[in-house]
Amino acid sequence: MTFKAEYLWIDGTEPTAKLRSKTKILAAGAEPPVWGFDGSSTNQAEGHSSDLVLQPVFSCPDPIRGGGNILVLCEVLHTDLTPHPSNTRALLRPVAEKYAEHGSLFGIEQEYTFFEGSRPLGFPENGFPAPQGGYYCGVGADEIFGREIVEKHLDNCLAAGLGISGINAEVMPGQWEFQVGPLSPLEVADHMWVARWLLYRTAEDFGVSATLDAKPAKGDWNGAGAHTNFSTRAMREGYDPIITACEALGDGDKPLLHVKNYGTGIESRLTGLHETAPWNEYSYGVSDRGASVRIPWQVEVDRKGYIEDRRPNANCDPYVVTRLIVDTCCTALEKAGQV
Ligand code: ADP
Ligand code: MN
Ligand code: MN
Ligand code: MN
Repeated sequence: MTFKAEYLWIDGTEPTAKLRSKTKILAAGAEPPVWGFDGSSTNQAEGHSSDLVLQPVFSCPDPIRGGGNILVLCEVLHTDLTPHPSNTRALLRPVAEKYAEHGSLFGIEQEYTFFEGSRPLGFPENGFPAPQGGYYCGVGADEIFGREIVEKHLDNCLAAGLGISGINAEVMPGQWEFQVGPLSPLEVADHMWVARWLLYRTAEDFGVSATLDAKPAKGDWNGAGAHTNFSTRAMREGYDPIITACEALGDGDKPLLHVKNYGTGIESRLTGLHETAPWNEYSYGVSDRGASVRIPWQVEVDRKGYIEDRRPNANCDPYVVTRLIVDTCCTALEKAGQV
């Protein structure tokens, strides 16, 4: 007896990496082994020395194929087993470990947009749909486009055992969101990459594509973000650490460092309009959806909880975003003795 292992990895496409996958047949009971691929076809190597290594790091049931088949998320390594430059997970590992005692948790809100041909799903062939207002969390065929795909994706994520925690229709027609977490830094990012692959794969069967483009429709339409909710144990137990984290994210060169690594085309999305703060001005506030970082109202009432970094783009790399947030905030929390 055999089963199918779908190996997933992140490629070297610039400026935004893409997911790739291929199938390996394994004997019943086998652990997914190290494998390889042609890096010259994924912008990760030159043709004359093209072999790269796939190192399995996370596997789960494959809800597309079902049965005993699995998905296998991999890190990309050189043949000497050192991490390839496109392997951002390798950079997160030591940072997550260094600050492990903080008990960091992340919940990421992944927004995305369905496209059919060259138009967002639900956009008419000529002109534009009715302006934003009724679509967010809407109901009815005049407002909702692609729900059957979204429901299927949710079921697939659950069947895969991913830590998906909710879905909602977004502000623009054809735009949706799913949330992953709260989970540890490596887990939330691993689950997010697999959930993204399942999104593309699920929509494929409906003849629809999904994009994480940060500004998929020009004009007076919301962009697509990946609000990143963050807490440490100290933040979940008290309010001073909440403020320490908010201040740390605004300190010195940190705002620019973060924004520059929060996804391609961030200036086109963080304009100061459409529930965003300008990309080059850091701010934080309670309940403030026009701030870079929001403290949810309930967190202020409870005097403990988590913060929401609203800046990451939908097309961000969760390995990079979680690494920067843990590094910046946990360094400051340690200095303040708030571990
Ligand atoms: P919004 O009101 O911004 O749309 P959502 O409900 O979409 O909020 O997302 C909130 C996210 O915050 C969820 O992914 C949830 O898992 C996450 N979250 C809740 N509590 C915590 C916490 N203590 N630490 C980190 N993330 C958290
Ligand atoms: Mn949300
Ligand atoms: Mn949203
Ligand atoms: Mn949010």
